[in-house]
Amino acid sequence: MLVQRGVRPTILDVGETLDLDRQAVVARMSAQQKTEWDAEDLAVITHNPTVSHEKVLRLAFGSAYPYAGTRESAPLDVAEDGPSPSMARGGFSTIWGAAMLPAAYCDLKAWPFPSGDLDPYYELVLRDLPFSATKDRLAGEFPLYRDDTEPLAPSPIVRSFLQTLDRSHFLRGRNDLAYGQARVAVRAHDGPDGRGCVYCGRCLSGCVYGSIYSAEQDLQKMIQRGEVDYRAGRTVLEFSERGNDVEVVCETKGGLENILVNRLFVAAGALNSTRLVLESKRLYDRPAVLKTTQGFVVPMINIRGAPFEWPNANTLSGIFFEFKLPSVSDNWVHSQISPANELILAKVGYQAGTGFLQYIRKLALGRLLVALCNFHSDLAGSYSLRLQRGSASKRSVLSIANQPSSDFADVMKLGSRRLTRLLSRVGVFPVTPLMYGDPLKPIGWHFGGSLPMTRDPRDEMHTDVFGRPKGWQRIHVIDSSVFPSVPATTIALLAMANATRIAQTVTLED
Ligand SMILES: Cc1cc2nc3c(=O)[nH]c(=O)nc-3n(C[C@H](O)[C@H](O)[C@H](O)COP(=O)(O)OP(=O)(O)OC[C@H]3O[C@@H](n4cnc5c(N)ncnc54)[C@H](O)[C@@H]3O)c2cc1C
Ligand code: SF4
Repeated sequence: MLVQRGVRPTILDVGETLDLDRQAVVARMSAQQKTEWDAEDLAVITHNPTVSHEKVLRLAFGSAYPYAGTRESAPLDVAEDGPSPSMARGGFSTIWGAAMLPAAYCDLKAWPFPSGDLDPYYELVLRDLPFSATKDRLAGEFPLYRDDTEPLAPSPIVRSFLQTLDRSHFLRGRNDLAYGQARVAVRAHDGPDGRGCVYCGRCLSGCVYGSIYSAEQDLQKMIQRGEVDYRAGRTVLEFSERGNDVEVVCETKGGLENILVNRLFVAAGALNSTRLVLESKRLYDRPAVLKTTQGFVVPMINIRGAPFEWPNANTLSGIFFEFKLPSVSDNWVHSQISPANELILAKVGYQAGTGFLQYIRKLALGRLLVALCNFHSDLAGSYSLRLQRGSASKRSVLSIANQPSSDFADVMKLGSRRLTRLLSRVGVFPVTPLMYGDPLKPIGWHFGGSLPMTRDPRDEMHTDVFGRPKGWQRIHVIDSSVFPSVPATTIALLAMANATRIAQTVTLED
């Protein structure tokens, strides 16, 4: 948006990238058809040792580089399975699930402006993204904001489930649910920006063709066109306003660097943006609440089987099923439903092949659906962040402590019961004894809200509607840390729309 306004921004980014060996494998595979891939190359990019861990992580071509964890330049005190910032070029969009819904009015009641103010920015954002979506029963509550969407071909299991939902009289005409084909930022067909999806079944390991959108792709284009001054290898440590300028202090391999800019937009991810504001304002030992969504995963049996096509399938979310729990709140509960993906298959030791046993396994897998259900941050636990001042030679440590919600166990139970009640009417039965989700520990990656936007910031950690922390005029935080609440219905599209709103409306003439 800044580029469209005629500005050539300087981007200061840690910007770590995939190691060169893996990059070579990805480059080789991307130049081949999926049928030509070498088994060794495939093994490299799909290697994921976390499938044997309790918390399975999505990796990027076999590498965990998008999860920064603790660093000398930005130390953390966090449990091993706790949240992490990203210092990757493109951040977590290098490994995300690409699921995208706009937020509904009922989920943004705490926001300081009407949810409708975001409408033009959803349009602007979606106009420039690959967007697999279709006009279906989601569109009533969650507008598409674009006419020329290009949906992926749903797998037989997904198509059959959607048809079953459509045929159900019980689900028809209700205002407490909405469902449809999952909306994902994936290029369905070949085009000038790159190759379309070839249904290779490796989405959760990384797409060698780049069909899944990542912010890295846009960044690359802007660098090539000379639209931005991109400076990687800079870890921003703090910033301050100096008259009409903002001074930014970065750590580089060569030592500290001070950079003067006339306006600063901070988008270091919710954890690192919060750290930067705490450090810059010298707010040590002061707790800040990082909100998060929370939920559970549950396998489900569909009595109507369909051919199980993996690996010839797209393994991102197949269906979005949104429902409400009126006895608890007016918020949407967001479920992403899919056939078994490659991480689940790896966990159960499944490999594609032929033979009678394989035939039986495929019959069973053709009846398996997996739902990931997420709840709004108002209903979920949260994290408490606290910055402990570093000593002379050491950086300050950001501690992240889990703050469970005492009510969430009940919310989760009610949510799973409701899902069961709704879906069992159409012959899909959640296997609740196999439900995974610790009510005392959020497992997701949708967090923010530590620097909430308010109309009138009174607290040092509040921001105004342009994301400016109290007392600052030229420093804007534009990522999810400024969300007053985090809807369950995905986070990135909302963050992109809000950042675009700020970048478009803020005065730049000075
Ligand atoms: C496995 C996974 C799946 C996900 N799936 C989805 C999904 O399907 N849908 C959805 O909506 N969301 C999803 N998310 C969440 C989504 O990816 C994040 O909300 C989003 O990436 C946040 O974007 P961001 O740019 O604010 O921060 P990040 O993605 O964290 O990027 C941070 C950027 O800032 C840079 N940076 C960080 N610290 C500094 C510093 N001190 N100095 C300079 N640069 C710095 C990094 O190099 C990076 O470029 C998922 C997340 C994960 C981990
Ligand atoms: S199935 Fe997934 S990994 Fe394979 S081409 Fe399509 S988007 Fe990429």
